[in-house]
Amino acid sequence: MSRQQASPIILCFSGHDPIGGAGIQADIEAIAAQSAHAATLITALTVQDTRNVQRIEPVAAETLREAASAVLKDLPVAAFKIGLLGSAEIAQTVANIIRQHPGIPLVLDPVLAAGGGKKLSDDRLLEVMRKQLLPLATLLTPNSLEARQLSGEEDLDLAAQQLLSMGCKNVLITGTHEATDRVYNTLYTAAGQQVFESERLPGDYHGSGCTLAATLAARLALGEEATSACHHALAYTEHCLRRAHSPGHGQSLPGRIKKDHEQNAIEDLNPDKDL
Ligand code: PLP
Repeated sequence: MSRQQASPIILCFSGHDPIGGAGIQADIEAIAAQSAHAATLITALTVQDTRNVQRIEPVAAETLREAASAVLKDLPVAAFKIGLLGSAEIAQTVANIIRQHPGIPLVLDPVLAAGGGKKLSDDRLLEVMRKQLLPLATLLTPNSLEARQLSGEEDLDLAAQQLLSMGCKNVLITGTHEATDRVYNTLYTAAGQQVFESERLPGDYHGSGCTLAATLAARLALGEEATSACHHALAYTEHCLRRAHSPGHGQSLPGRIKKDHEQNAIEDLNPDKDL
């Protein structure tokens, strides 16, 4: 029996969202959709619904450190992805882990607030993110609000230059929070900048940033450069948002799983279908 070619493994450090729209579930679904495999380390549990986050409870830092060590001794991790961290202590623990594995690309999604507005970071966490994590990042994926907060610059071009000077290799600033008719997402690299323009979709989404960052990590793990990874990940994320559904009372959930095959399978089981 021939063995399947191994899928690249992305080790994700993310929070758990019981709604299933953001956090670790977004990572697993988005990464699986790139034909890659997500290994998952939960940084924090959350209490939330589709409207907002109520509370975050970080895991014990020592458990996270042990679990990461077990995974990294066993699996050939091809990329890291960091999402919600939940506390400065967890951020520090994650930075220590990543620092021991130079050469593995890292996508850092600086989750500072929930879509519903709840603050998901404090000054200590921001400090660890700026000084310890940002310099390790291959690709930083702030939205425009996070880019301003992390850099202290209002102008987004200046914010990106400041973030690059703080040590990350590339920055993708997403533009959905800006008051523009269309959405402009801009990738800044040492070589210059590239704008990816897309239609502004109506509605609010829960887990769009996680979907984008996880897909980017998978594309880097598959060997793509930052520009190509951004092109593919932005297209996939837009596709997920176009097929989002709204099962709750707040934000819509991205449709990350391809339903076409399921549909075929259901039709195959349907005795009434036209042959
Ligand atoms: N991770 C977790 C566990 C969350 O609960 C949230 C937001 O609620 C996020 C990440 C960020 O989500 P988004 O991708 O919508 O920015």
